[in-house]
Amino acid sequence: MNQHQDDDRELIDCAREARERAYVPYSGFRMGAAVRTVDGSIRPGAVVENVSLGLAMCAERIALFASTAVGDARPVALALVAPRTDGVLTYPCGACLQVALELGGSELTVLVADADGDSVERATVGELLPKGPKKG
Ligand SMILES: [Zn+2]
Repeated sequence: MNQHQDDDRELIDCAREARERAYVPYSGFRMGAAVRTVDGSIRPGAVVENVSLGLAMCAERIALFASTAVGDARPVALALVAPRTDGVLTYPCGACLQVALELGGSELTVLVADADGDSVERATVGELLPKGPKKG
């Protein structure tokens, strides 16, 4: 493996570990995420549900917000580990992509992996959300 692949594997492993901490008593749909910053810091996130269902928060946004909250440098990659949705790898929702666009820009790399962390696909936020509003 080259350094790039090692970095991706480390990020996916962090997301997979965070997935184990997901709080999902209502859906049972475990999702974990991890953000890597331009200087190499990694922050995990896990989905957190609530009996007031609309208050649930995606793993990806928790990771992005946590990274911001501790003063990390700009995020450059976001990994999501989740069960497949309708047979295909699960990608971040539109809200999470918009937050990733705001904090990391359109070149931020999105890595998605299945629950085992084995099948991996990658794309940029700009590819996944090409017309998302950007800060000027
Ligand atoms: Zn989301």
